Amino acid sequence: MFSMFLNFLFPPRCPNCRAYVERRGDFCAPCMRRLVHVHALVRPTEAADVLDGIWAFAHYREAVRDLLRALKYQKRKSALPPLHAVLQAGDGILAQLPHPIAAVPVPLAAERARTRGFNQAEEIFAPWLHAHDIALTALLIRTRATAPLYDHTRAERRRELRGAFAVTEGADVAGVDVLLVDDIMTTGATLTECARVLKRAGARRVYAFVLASEHL
Ligand SMILES: [Zn+2]
Repeated sequence: MFSMFLNFLFPPRCPNCRAYVERRGDFCAPCMRRLVHVHALVRPTEAADVLDGIWAFAHYREAVRDLLRALKYQKRKSALPPLHAVLQAGDGILAQLPHPIAAVPVPLAAERARTRGFNQAEEIFAPWLHAHDIALTALLIRTRATAPLYDHTRAERRRELRGAFAVTEGADVAGVDVLLVDDIMTTGATLTECARVLKRAGARRVYAFVLASEHL
């Protein structure tokens, strides 16, 4: 009843082009076609031994970029429904991965987690994974904050990230298949380092899903 009333007052619109849509949070069909594209990403060279596959769901541009920024930097959880809608395009890829699989959000540094109040990777992926009977588990922790990595060389990024992640105390990842989830992939250095830590601790296969990438 309330949602009918809400839809009467504020009819749902595409978050990208403002066209009217059926359900709140959905992109219109043309924007969905242009922005959402489930795609295997080329793994960074140094990831070849540790990451068994990376998929992105959308292009990091237009409303996808704006919604992710609103979520991360303005803590606007109202940005979540359209991001959740994007993930439905990945049902087919998820079905191809081994089951059971432990989904693990890329952890934030403690200070960042405190100021933001949530981990965006968890907020984005949890409902969709839950709908597929996959729980998010905090198997990784970030041991220290790291500097932004985009303007670093590959060697510098590797050095900056070394030792920045660890398996959570008491967690056993031996023989476990893991699905890392994160909001975006830029250089892939963070995902690679997380996968390296997991493999070193005995994880069997490590895959990664990111909501958006510039490299589609
Ligand atoms: Zn649209």
